[in-house]
This record gives sequence, structure tokens and C-alpha cells, in this order.
Amino acid sequence: MRASALAELGQASDGGELDAWRVKYLGRKGQLTAILRGLSSLPVEERRTVGAAANQLRGALEEQLQARTDELRNASSPKAERLDVTLPGRRGNRGGLHPVTQTIRDITDAFAAMGFQTVEGPDVEWEQYNFDALNIPPGHPARDMQDTFWLDAPESDANGSMLLKTQTSPMQIRMMEKTEPPIRIVSPGRCFRHEATDATHEWQFFQVEVLAVDEGISFADMKGTLYEFARRIFGPDRRVRFRVDFFPFVEPGAEMAIDCFRCGGDGCRTCSGSGWIEIMGAGMVHPKVLEGVGYDSEKYTGFAAGMGVERIAMLRHGIDDVRLFAAGDLRFLSQF
Ligand SMILES: [Zn+2]
Repeated sequence: MRASALAELGQASDGGELDAWRVKYLGRKGQLTAILRGLSSLPVEERRTVGAAANQLRGALEEQLQARTDELRNASSPKAERLDVTLPGRRGNRGGLHPVTQTIRDITDAFAAMGFQTVEGPDVEWEQYNFDALNIPPGHPARDMQDTFWLDAPESDANGSMLLKTQTSPMQIRMMEKTEPPIRIVSPGRCFRHEATDATHEWQFFQVEVLAVDEGISFADMKGTLYEFARRIFGPDRRVRFRVDFFPFVEPGAEMAIDCFRCGGDGCRTCSGSGWIEIMGAGMVHPKVLEGVGYDSEKYTGFAAGMGVERIAMLRHGIDDVRLFAAGDLRFLSQF
């Protein structure tokens, strides 16, 4: 009876069939009930064994009935978990590179293609490397233009005090100190200035420094290299313009601009109506800087250039507020 009852229960597929099964075995006129009723007609010695077995079977059948009832109820519930293998898969959230990181890679790739090696320097720098060795001695007005985060160093030494680097130029000195020409490096890094923030200023930002030193490097080499860079980043039709500018560690110094890639030079908002967009400062390395690291400035010449990474990214993507880069807003970041 146990075997046939359990087999039939497994076949029951709805409430009506379960009820019929219950009546057949456990109901008032059911098969098991009939056995229990008939106990009194058995000899005394058999009554105990048969009674115990029948009661045990009744408990087991009631338990199985409940289990099968629950099973059928869950299967028909809308909440039931079902596997539909025809549904398309769910796309996971994948991260991407920050637009500043992408821009740094594009810049360093453009220079790498011209034989420049990428090197990185420390964020915490000595006064000597950030200023003095770059021909910016104490009291020089250029220091006032870079509101500096000075650090409480335990002891200032021959290199001066410590600070958060205000520019990537210290890496020029560090590379020249430890290597002999020829040098061709590009050095991206984070810079810090104690400035109020607005749409074009942040207190921390990225720069990329460029340095080439060798025998016989001329201003024409600088123009050719930077021109090629501009074409790689802003498109092969770009024209460039160099105008005199001042940076203490170069002589002569220049500001490089490209013709506006939005309006083609007619004048628009991106280029402030001038048709030109300034993208970096550059110049021939000052002889004092070369001599400061022990190079013979009669034998070696070189050029240096520096640019703001956020500015390049803003120009390329038409972004109008530098503060968006560090705001951590995925609605902005996920566009890149
Ligand atoms: Zn324009």
C-alpha cells in the first residue's frame, strides 16, 4: 500500500487529484482507515504490530501529502523561479578609463611614436626640483604665480622645503641628473596649486612634460615635433602657430596654438573668436638649467614643452567645466 500510495501521489498534479488521493487512502472509507478500523478483529498478539505499522504509515502519508501540496502550490506561483533559456543575457557593468587617463595615454602614445620614453615622478617634491633648478630662485615672480601647498617636512635640507609639485617640470631635472644625453622623455603627472576652483581652474590637475636634449637640437626640431604631436591629437589638417612667451626655464620661450578645429579659424566660442587655441608652452632649455645638472651648455641643447591634460581633453570632447573630471559623476564619466 505504501508503494502504490506514494507512486500515485507523485502523479497527482492539481488540488482535485490530491483530494481524491486523500479520500482513497486517508478518508473515512479509505484503505488505510479500513485497516485501522479492522484492528479490533485481529488476534491480540498481531494487533500491536499491525497497529503500530498502520499508524506509522498514516503519519508518513500525511507528511507526503503536505509536501506534494506545497510543491504544486510553489510551482504555480508567479514568484516561482523559472529558467527561460531564450531570454538574452544581462549585461554586467564594465568600468572604463577616466577621460583624463585616456587623454594622457593618447598624448604619451603620440610622443612614443616619435621615440619619447614615458617616465613618472613623485607627487611630493623638493623645492630645489620644483623651482630653483628650473631657474626659479626664491623671490622670483614666477613663484607667486604658483600658489603652492608647502609641507611640514621634518627637516628642510640642501634641497629646500617639501611641497606638492606645482608642475611636471621637476622631472626634467630628475632625468637629466641621472642620465646623459640623448634624452627624449614625456612625463605625465598630477600637479597641485592652492587656487580657488572655477570652470577652468582646479586645485589639482594633470600636466604632461616633454623634454629632448642632445647635441645639435634646434628650435626647428621643437617645432617639427610639436607640430607632429598636434596633428596626431587634433587631426592631420591642423595648422600651428608659435608666439613668444616667457617661462623661466626656457630661452627663447613660446606658446603654441592650433587653428580652431571647430570653426576652422573663422572664430567661435571654443577659440574665443580668435580662430586659434593655445594648447601648450614650450621653448629651448635655458643654458642655466643645463649647467645646473652638470651638462656642457655649449655642447648640448634641447627643448621642453608642457601642457594641461584637462585642457586637451576639454577641447577634444567639448567639455566646458574642468570640475566635472574630479566630481565622480557617472552620468558624465560614462560618456567616454
Ligand atoms: Zn573657433
